Amino acid sequence: MQPFTYVRPETTADAVRAFADAGDGARYIAGGTTLYDLMKLRVERPRHLIDVTAIAGLDAIDTSGDVLRFGALAAMSDVAADPVVAGDYPVLAEALLKAASQNLRNMATIGGNLLQRTRCLYFRDPGAANFPCNKREPGSGCAAIDGLDRGQAVLGVSDACTAVSPGDWPVALTAMDAEVELLGPGGTRTLAVADLYRLPGSTPHDEFALEPGEMVTAVMVPKTPAGAASTYHKIRDRESYAFALASAAVALEMDGERVTRARIALGGVATRPWRATGAEAALAGADLTPETALAAGHAALEGATPGRHNAFKIELGARTVADALLIAAERSRA
Ligand SMILES: Cc1cc2nc3c(=O)[nH]c(=O)nc-3n(C[C@H](O)[C@H](O)[C@H](O)COP(=O)(O)OP(=O)(O)OC[C@H]3O[C@@H](n4cnc5c(N)ncnc54)[C@H](O)[C@@H]3O)c2cc1C
Repeated sequence: MQPFTYVRPETTADAVRAFADAGDGARYIAGGTTLYDLMKLRVERPRHLIDVTAIAGLDAIDTSGDVLRFGALAAMSDVAADPVVAGDYPVLAEALLKAASQNLRNMATIGGNLLQRTRCLYFRDPGAANFPCNKREPGSGCAAIDGLDRGQAVLGVSDACTAVSPGDWPVALTAMDAEVELLGPGGTRTLAVADLYRLPGSTPHDEFALEPGEMVTAVMVPKTPAGAASTYHKIRDRESYAFALASAAVALEMDGERVTRARIALGGVATRPWRATGAEAALAGADLTPETALAAGHAALEGATPGRHNAFKIELGARTVADALLIAAERSRA
């Protein structure tokens, strides 16, 4: 085991200071449901852990204003169970409830969920086979591209990496134009969740648009009536406790059967949460029917590049979007 130091500051300011003082090899840790895993697998080897779980108030959930505000330490299960989230924003509640297991959701935080790393087989296995992985070891190559790529992305891929962005929650947040609040040595700033994730390009190890030492302090979602006509539709190898093969977060504003505005984001098929602006534009002003929904689904997958074993994700992704649109439209009639 690689030794590491551990501190548990009680304020955000102390956490940021502790991170800066620790220097190279520092990591924040919250629920630990993915970082400890990666340490045991020797994929992550932090030298300093800054445990943020003693920071009072960082788990607050406030749904009273124009914006839903979730502290970074709020448990996934608590956010999903909040009455306003569960009642008025099914896309958010479903994205959380269809992730992991109840035990994990009780432990895992909504801030940590945003920054979890890919489940690509080759990224997570630096063991005896020591598969090359540009995300884990920059410049080493990508074993997935000529390997078992059934689970890999078809959108946003590069010659260096096809790893899927794993989280469900960031996909729902991307569809809902959510923002993250960040605190770092340079102060506080907000960033669109959609802009938190970088495309892999030639530097797949550089995943998040964070400044050194920045921590997530909150997630904000603007309130919208479209929340009620929304869903997170997730297709996976088994019905529970599995990552998405394809998923779609959809929220609709409707005038009768006509779509006035659609928000669509995809998961499971892309290297980052994927906002499908082409599909949104194709639907604006159209009546929502099974045919227009499927056409929007195909528009959402435009430009997809399959590998050896994952071409099925293109049709699956399109149909997942189409089904999500029909579920959301049904909710708009309620
Ligand atoms: C078996 C299993 C199945 C799963 N299935 C799913 C699934 O289907 N869908 C899904 O979306 N997720 C799934 N997950 C992932 C799970 O949701 C994440 O592990 C969890 O959300 C991470 O939250 P955490 O608080 O435990 O993060 P941690 O493990 O503590 O941290 C994760 C990362 O975030 C960073 N971090 C944490 N908090 C902060 C902060 N406030 N500021 C800055 N950086 C921070 C850490 O440095 C680390 O890099 C699964 C996990 C497991 C183990």
